[in-house]
Amino acid sequence: MAVYKLKPAFKDYIWGGTRLRDDFGKQCDLEKIAESWELSCHKDGESTIDGGEADGLTLSQLIEKQGKGILGTDCDKFEDFPILIKLIDAKDNLSVQVHPDNDYAQRVEGEYGKTEMWYIVDCDEGATLLYGFKKEISKDEFARRIEDNTLLEVTNAVPVKKGDVFFIRAGTLHAIGKGILIAEIQQNSNTTYRIYDYGRVGSDGKPRQLHIEKAKDVTALRPAQPYPETPIEQMSGYTQKLLSKCEYFTTYALDIDSKAVLKADEKSFVNLLVLEGEGNIIAEKTESFKKGDSLFITASTGEFAVEGKCRAILTKV
Ligand code: ZN
Repeated sequence: MAVYKLKPAFKDYIWGGTRLRDDFGKQCDLEKIAESWELSCHKDGESTIDGGEADGLTLSQLIEKQGKGILGTDCDKFEDFPILIKLIDAKDNLSVQVHPDNDYAQRVEGEYGKTEMWYIVDCDEGATLLYGFKKEISKDEFARRIEDNTLLEVTNAVPVKKGDVFFIRAGTLHAIGKGILIAEIQQNSNTTYRIYDYGRVGSDGKPRQLHIEKAKDVTALRPAQPYPETPIEQMSGYTQKLLSKCEYFTTYALDIDSKAVLKADEKSFVNLLVLEGEGNIIAEKTESFKKGDSLFITASTGEFAVEGKCRAILTKV
């Protein structure tokens, strides 16, 4: 029964910007901050506890110490920690890529596949991203277009605005476009198959590796399947909107006006990722938060209050 503030792990991929430091107050020495991993037990970048008696422990160490019970009963079916939550600042285009599903990833990569969801936190005017194909194409056409560099003629470019949501099932071809800042909720996986990288080179001066054959194995050659539109629900002191619910995560956008009473029941922990505003979270103790903070609330904490004016993404399993 507790609330923990988390410190993220950072990534300085070549396409990143500086907004996570400039606008979200992230403290990090890297010149570019492409990603902050805000809720992570992944070996490639773990979140750590910030403050309190568990200060400095990684999230996985905390779970090891306190037992898997703090994750909730809905996590029993997962051998590893199920999800990974990131902020992503795309100053430049990300590569065109695809992720495998669980079956393929566990067989070939030894980790989970990746279904993910994007919430557009902010974007430049005219920003677009790539989301599936305009229409169904054949395997032969896919292979030919990769070969002759014409893939982008058949992919679906979507203009975006703040608050838009994209549900990206494993197998959906996708790319975040430049000028977009995203909150990403995903399965706990770091397996990405790159298909097209705009001819760029990595920090070592060489083209970044592509994974064409694996991408051909796993890409769904058809339009993406968005999550159905959901209504905004008026609650007492706040509104909530279901962004997506799948077998791995359930995510809501919350707009809190003054106070919201929320709950972490015995089934799942809760993560709150604060995108705007500030306030206090009140459980057994009071913890202040501001824009950019990530809070981990253990399962069975019961009711807790969030006071302040803020927008946050709430995720549970
Ligand atoms: Zn992705």
